[in-house]
Order: sequence, then C-alpha cells, then structure tokens
Amino acid sequence: MTDDLRRASAILTIDLGALVDNWRRLRDRVAPAECAAVVKADAYGLGVSRVVPALAAAGCRSFVVAQFEEALKVRALAPEARILCLGGLPPGAEGDMVEQRILPVLNHLGEVAAWRSHAARRGKALAAVIHIDTGMNRLGLGPDELDALVNMPEWLNGIDVRYWMTHLACADEFDSPMNRQQLDRFKAALARLPKAKASFTNSSGIFHGPDFHFDLARPGCALYGVNPTPHLDNPMRDVVRLDVRVLQVRNVDSPMTVGYGATHRVERKGKVATIAVGYADGYLRSLGGRGHMFVNGRPAAVVGRVSMDLLTVDVTDLPEEAVQPGGLVELIGPNRPVDTVAAEGGTIGYEILTSLGPRYHRVYLDPPAMT
Ligand SMILES: *Cc1c(COP(=O)(O)O)cnc(C)c1O
Repeated sequence: MTDDLRRASAILTIDLGALVDNWRRLRDRVAPAECAAVVKADAYGLGVSRVVPALAAAGCRSFVVAQFEEALKVRALAPEARILCLGGLPPGAEGDMVEQRILPVLNHLGEVAAWRSHAARRGKALAAVIHIDTGMNRLGLGPDELDALVNMPEWLNGIDVRYWMTHLACADEFDSPMNRQQLDRFKAALARLPKAKASFTNSSGIFHGPDFHFDLARPGCALYGVNPTPHLDNPMRDVVRLDVRVLQVRNVDSPMTVGYGATHRVERKGKVATIAVGYADGYLRSLGGRGHMFVNGRPAAVVGRVSMDLLTVDVTDLPEEAVQPGGLVELIGPNRPVDTVAAEGGTIGYEILTSLGPRYHRVYLDPPAMT
C-alpha cells in the first residue's frame, strides 16, 4: 500500500474493468443496434476522464452528455467519437458545435430554426438529433411542434437529421403502461417524419426487449452498476466501492447522546465509531439514523446526524478487534450495493453516485489488457 493510500481518510475504488464489462453486456443485448454511453455529470460522478477512454478503447463510439461544456471535455478525450449533447444549442454555440463535431439534440423549434440558419450561413447541411417528446413534458418537440414540423418539412432544410430521439418517463417501472404508450407515440411520430435513424431507450428500457432498442441505445446508470431492473436481481457488475477510515472508537454510557442535535440517545452502554465521511462527501444527511455500513463482515447502523465530515456508527455488538482507529469500513461495495444505500437514504442510485464528493482518494482499477 502506498503512503497516499495509507493516509487517505476515504478510498473510492472505481472498477473500469467492470464498467467496460457492463457496457459490453448492454452492447450485446441491443445488437444489432448501437450502444452509446451516457457520461453526463462527470460520468455519473465516476470521472469522465477515466471512463471515456476506457469505453472508447472497448469500442464504444458514441457518447451522450447534457451540457456543451461536457461535450467539449469528451471531444478532447475521444477525438473520433460521436458526441450527442442533450441540452441542445446554447446561444452562440453553433460555430463551436460544428468545429468540434458535436451533435446538438434540438429540443424545440427555436433550436431547429437556429441550426437551420447556421447551416444556411455555412452553405452546408449540419448534422443534428431531434428530440420528440412522447410523454416526459420536459424537453423535446411537443405534439403542436411535431404537427408544425410535419406540415412544414422545409423547417428541416439544411439539417441532416442523424437520429430522431425520445426519452422514457417510467422505464424502471416494468409494469407501467407509459412505456408501451411512449413506444406507440414514438412510432407514430416516426411514420410522419422524414426517414432517419432513431434513439429511444435509456438503461432500463433496454430490458423491455428489442422493440425498445431502435438504432442507438443510451444507457447511463447501468454502466455504473445501478440496477436497471429493480424488480429483479442486478444484471450488472458493481463498479464502485467506498471504504472509509475509522477515526475513533468511543465507549458511550447511557444516558448520553451522540452528535448534533442530540438526536440519538444511547439506551445501553455501548461503543460508537466515528468515521471520516460526511454530507460534504455525498453521504446524504438523510442517512442519519437510517443508513448502514459494513464493518469487518458485519452490518453496523449509522446513529445520530451525519455531519459535514464525520458520521457515527453503533459498533457495540462488534468484537473489539473488528473495529479500530485506522481501520476501514465499507460504505458502498459488495455488501452494500449502491441501490441499497440509496433506498436507505430515500433516493436513487443515480443521486448517490453523482453526489460522490471530490475529497475521496480515487483508485481506478484498469480493465484487463485487451487481447
Ligand atoms: C440521463 C439520460 C439517459 C441515461 O439514462 P439512464 O437511466 O441513466 O440509463 C438517456 N437519455 C437521456 C435523454 C437522459 O437524459
């Protein structure tokens, strides 16, 4: 172990081999459709500068981001890749979009018009993705805008539509009628629009079957180990592991309290371990009094409030030698999957991952060399 690692108060291990394996599983599942990788929000908090090169080396050719700045970052990491920018066309970004070969996802007719004008100015067709809203009511052309586009095909002059796209609202709810409805609406829209490829599904939608795959799948969370099929065992490999140092172990006698607000009252003589992670690191404050972690093979409950840099765990029932200052406890890992941590905090795995703070000592495990 290096000194850095020995001194680190918290170690976030990101298994790029598992990430790549997850991408390959999804790729095989959607074939012959193409499988992109959604790497918005710093690759769901795991680090776009490591995630993109690993996936590109494995053969991923399309990356999806939310913001233009993210698209520029990915371009620098993957010079040959196709990059889709979900956030559309920021004012004045047209020129850089073209130079950097970024595909804007045009979300409303105003953006379609701006892209068309830019194409006219340049005197050449410009590639784009056009987003049709089929039920999210968030981004994309609504029914009125779709009608307008169908009735005035000249709106697309100078636009090389690479994909028609839409996005599922309830993909992780496998019995929701919304999924089939959105599929039907999307197919109906495609039938009225000029022919082009189509992109429909996120991670969970991939598991609804081939009808949902179209030409380009856009998985995000499943790549990073979040379960895309919450009603079934996780078909993906865990990618993230978080181990945090014990700073102190204290004997606490009843009737004392632990932590801010004195919310936890000790009911019997016991032991509390203070560990080096808090809400500033993305360990949600809502996990106070609710979360669990794994200490030397056994679960231990978070007691009291989560502080900015610290939290406290009841280790009364653990043997003395199992928990010592300087030891590590597992907050996320094989015994504490990210979805379990999320459920305890009243949230979803996506929020746990994207909240992982900048203070962790990060260890990236490289994929096995490709042969
Ligand atoms: C975030 C996002 C995705 C990826 O969703 P996951 O559920 O993480 O797979 C796909 N498409 C769009 C439009 C998104 O915003």
